[in-house]
Amino acid sequence: MTENYFKTYPNKEGFFNEYGGAFIPPMLEEEMKKITDAYYAISKSHSFISELRSIRKHYQGRPTPVYYCNRLSDKYGGRIYLKREDLNHTGAHKLNHCMGEALLAKHLGKKKLIAETGAGQHGVALATAAAYFGLECEIHMGEVDMAKERPNVVRMRILGAKVVPVTHGLKTLKEAVDSAFEAYMKDPINTIYCIGSVVGPHPFPMMVRDFQRVVGIEAKEQFFDMTGELPDNVVACVGGGSNAMGIFSAFLDDSECSLYGVEPGGRSLEHGEHAATMTLGKPGIIHGFKCYTLQDENGEPSPVYSVASGLDYPGVGPEHSMLKDLKKVNYDVVSDKETIDAFFELSRLEGIIPALESAHAVAYAFKLAQENPQKSILVNLSGRGDKDLDFVVENYEMPE
Ligand SMILES: *Cc1c(COP(=O)(O)O)cnc(C)c1O
Repeated sequence: MTENYFKTYPNKEGFFNEYGGAFIPPMLEEEMKKITDAYYAISKSHSFISELRSIRKHYQGRPTPVYYCNRLSDKYGGRIYLKREDLNHTGAHKLNHCMGEALLAKHLGKKKLIAETGAGQHGVALATAAAYFGLECEIHMGEVDMAKERPNVVRMRILGAKVVPVTHGLKTLKEAVDSAFEAYMKDPINTIYCIGSVVGPHPFPMMVRDFQRVVGIEAKEQFFDMTGELPDNVVACVGGGSNAMGIFSAFLDDSECSLYGVEPGGRSLEHGEHAATMTLGKPGIIHGFKCYTLQDENGEPSPVYSVASGLDYPGVGPEHSMLKDLKKVNYDVVSDKETIDAFFELSRLEGIIPALESAHAVAYAFKLAQENPQKSILVNLSGRGDKDLDFVVENYEMPE
């Protein structure tokens, strides 16, 4: 039945029921159609599948383990397990889709990968993939973000990527998207625009999901080997939604597993203080696709905020939008404060420093564990916290 789901969603036009699609200029329509057709053909070829499998094993270090958290489970109740995507090469799940996108680019004969980045995580993963395949890489980044995220700018440059500073408007992510897009439109034959999550026009939400499915496939088998059963609960944080789609995709048909997507509740649920797109947003069109979105009356994206820069996006993947309406996945929020507490708890009790994005999922797991101490919980630990250390010690007090 699961394969049937993946054949049904998205449909040929890239819709997950009413969400998704491709609301883009005619010139891009043709290019997206080419990428879609090539993806359908190439992704089923033996050479593509076996090359990706080999990369995952020998370069990325997959499969990543599933780990049982003894001390956390003792303290909070429940049986808490982590899928360790923080142990994937470069320290997060993003490389799963970047390697897939770059491999597709190579098969398409492209010479250059283009993308925007906000906090720099997508830029670093893509620069890594470009180095691996010997492709050029151009990352557009707002000047304000470049100053904030200097270590990632340095990483991208060391990896051989060209970082293009974006100096107009607010000099952040939105302007970087426009700038990267413009650069891509100048030479769509030799370049490919690599999107960093399950968002954007068709075929990206589908492709990125497919490249992330490896997380769920591995985790389901590993969890079953360890326990002889399926998890009662599966939890993942949701920014654009790629790590969550990766793990949820293996459990969509298992009605005994409850799935939870955790959104950033930020400082409060007041306008501009959070990025709880699905909890508080409504359907609309953003960046070329339809999804739940936080927008004002004029359709302009609302300002969003989260302590985790990888989660502050005013839209969300179209597949998540559909799964919310179908009630297949529960979406809820966790605040900055709960996130920081979970960040320290996991560090102190298990010796694992999580990314602030992933700490949202950990914080939610604590709540589930306390409500239902007899149940098991599988958390997708999407990344490690090295990138967040300076920010946390500068802004929060160390617990006793
Ligand atoms: C970027 C990022 C996220 C958010 O992206 P999704 O597409 O929602 O998965 C989550 N965790 C980490 C570690 C990230 O770097």
